[in-house]
Amino acid sequence: MSPLVERDGRDLRGRYVDEADVVVVGSGPAGAAVARNLAHRGVRVLVLEEGHEARPADFAPSAVRAMASLYRDMGTSLAFGNAPMPYLQARVVGGTSVVNGAISWRFPREALDEWIAADPAIGEGLRYEAIAAAEARIEERLHVAPTDVRVAGPKNLLLARGADALGVAHRAIRRNVRGCTGEGRCLQGCPHGHKLSMDLSFLPDAVGRGARILAGMRVDRVIVERGRARGVAGVTAAGARFEVRAKHAVVLAASAIQTPCVLRRSGLPQGGAGDGLAAHPGVSVTGRFAEPVRNWRGATQGHEVIGYRGEGIKLEALGFDVSLLASRIPGVGRDFARRLAEIDRYAVWGAALRARGRGKVRPGPTRPIVTYSLTDDDVRKARRAVRLLGDVMLAAGALEVYPGIPGFDPAVRDRAHMARIEAEGSLAASDYTMSMTHLFGTARMGSDPARSVVRPDFRHHATDALYVADSSVFPGNLGVNPQIAIMALADLCADRVAVA
Ligand SMILES: Cc1cc2nc3c(=O)[nH]c(=O)nc-3n(C[C@H](O)[C@H](O)[C@H](O)COP(=O)(O)OP(=O)(O)OC[C@H]3O[C@@H](n4cnc5c(N)ncnc54)[C@H](O)[C@@H]3O)c2cc1C
Ligand code: SF4
Repeated sequence: MSPLVERDGRDLRGRYVDEADVVVVGSGPAGAAVARNLAHRGVRVLVLEEGHEARPADFAPSAVRAMASLYRDMGTSLAFGNAPMPYLQARVVGGTSVVNGAISWRFPREALDEWIAADPAIGEGLRYEAIAAAEARIEERLHVAPTDVRVAGPKNLLLARGADALGVAHRAIRRNVRGCTGEGRCLQGCPHGHKLSMDLSFLPDAVGRGARILAGMRVDRVIVERGRARGVAGVTAAGARFEVRAKHAVVLAASAIQTPCVLRRSGLPQGGAGDGLAAHPGVSVTGRFAEPVRNWRGATQGHEVIGYRGEGIKLEALGFDVSLLASRIPGVGRDFARRLAEIDRYAVWGAALRARGRGKVRPGPTRPIVTYSLTDDDVRKARRAVRLLGDVMLAAGALEVYPGIPGFDPAVRDRAHMARIEAEGSLAASDYTMSMTHLFGTARMGSDPARSVVRPDFRHHATDALYVADSSVFPGNLGVNPQIAIMALADLCADRVAVA
């Protein structure tokens, strides 16, 4: 086995039993932050991860192959609702940090203020200063810094050019990378280990302090005896049953989709576990430029427009592998072939929406059943985001942009025409092609046990020694990329576990 993972469930064919002081379920940003914190205090931590270990040398340039090997459900996870809404998560040691864009934002104070306004007790558990202090430590460890212009590449620099032309605020994206050479493959896993995902940062830190990681171990339920969490039970990747006892606590950090499923499978639906799913649905627009963009090169996501954040819209450059990029190019037959010959001229930029829609997660027979619908306002926001993306592209010099909204012109060449989308573009949610990568709110934190799953100190309302550390506990979405905020809150959760 590797120095990181002690054992993999693929090799565990008979019933397996283990124990630790604290059992952590999931090894993404939340689980890794908990494990690192507790291991540094000398606590015996055992991390159970359903996915397997993957190393930079194994990461393929092809998005399709990356989906098949690193993403949950091979990238086919889907939320049912009023719009087609795939959601993406990884299933690998290091969690979704292995395939994310490395964008590193701090927890926005306005989000915390909203949570506290709705439930003042949250302010007693979560102090902004404590979150900020944790984020400062995390940022230092993960080398968070603005994207270096030398590795940004045209797709990011063009976004800056367009925003400048419109006079809207923009900036180089702060990312958790070290020595990034701008290969543009973050979403397939960085082949050089330049992205400081959890498998290359917090998890080795934790293991260096005595934490243990078992991969290929799917936790099905928490073992609850006399109102207290005593451990977890599940199935190894080889199909054998396992049980791991926890002397001190069980911490769920399996993500906002999987954590509520574990709770419900454990007979712990209290407080509406699985209800209240919130997200940042994303829309994207493709444009064609006169000069080479080579969208697959340069920092995967290196530049963002922040001037529309007040409206709940954040624009980002997107780096796609060439196969995905080809699927964004319009046309058929010879027309498509002609465009494909110029694939290096195309860019795709995206917008993350601070949507108000809510959904539900329930365990299903083979995968979670997820429902999520946009509100009417969210659809208006999506339509406006398409207009803004097209606007910035045209201001940056795009020859034409492809809004991709049925019933509206497939190719737009000037800004006045683009503006018409806000009056004429469809308001049917299903006309927008979207996806979700930031997920929250399915085991909410709060003071009322009838309406929340954990207390403001991350403890489960109804079960002792059980904590939830991931973004399930966030009462709502943030409006910014959440990984650093997730790590910071998980770090605070670990503080609570340690003193309990
Ligand atoms: C393509 C993509 C790009 C993104 N880009 C960014 C970005 O640039 N910046 C940013 O801030 N955020 C980004 N995100 C979001 C960010 O990565 C996630 O919000 C974050 O990783 C969530 O952390 P987590 O620990 O809660 O869950 P995850 O990272 O999903 O980790 C959960 C882990 O738990 C494991 N697990 C689940 N169920 C079980 C079980 N029953 N038993 C054992 N193990 C289990 C999973 O296999 C997984 O490894 C992106 C997401 C995607 C999909
Ligand atoms: S842009 Fe490329 S080199 Fe830089 S971190 Fe991402 S995959 Fe690695």
